[in-house]
Amino acid sequence: MKQEQQNCIFCKIIRGEVPSTKVYEDEKIIAFLDIRPITEGHTLVVPKAHTSGLLDTPGQTLAELVFAAQKIGQALVTSLGAEGFNLTCNNGKASGQVVFHLHFHLIPRRASDGLSSWPHREYALGEAEKMAEKIKSALQ
Ligand code: 5GP
Ligand code: ZN
Repeated sequence: MKQEQQNCIFCKIIRGEVPSTKVYEDEKIIAFLDIRPITEGHTLVVPKAHTSGLLDTPGQTLAELVFAAQKIGQALVTSLGAEGFNLTCNNGKASGQVVFHLHFHLIPRRASDGLSSWPHREYALGEAEKMAEKIKSALQ
């Protein structure tokens, strides 16, 4: 086993070496409660195969992850009465990622939970088009 998998906290949870409050498991995916929840029921959905983030993960695994997230998101709404949820995925240290094993956060939300959304900016005239050109050039 690679050193990064040996030391990875989520791999340890998957191997059963570290306890977790599991809510879902199948052959490819595990989901457990975040140890420091943003809201009650905050769940981490994690592929069992170790990759560090979205960019180094095979498409098939991503499909399985999204499918599980949909199923668990529905369960949060049904079982906890959540009025909605955020599905987030931090990629890279600058984004706030601290565990470098790919995971989705499912954060149950209520209109009354007092959490604000991210601040929005505005583009200056012509800036959005320039930005789009830059991004498109990397997609060809
Ligand atoms: P990131 O910022 O990397 O997207 O989020 C990592 C998340 O994993 C954090 O919300 C953190 O609370 C959670 N976490 C870190 N270590 C553990 C752990 O040992 N057990 C559980 N259940 N969650 C953890
Ligand atoms: Zn891992």
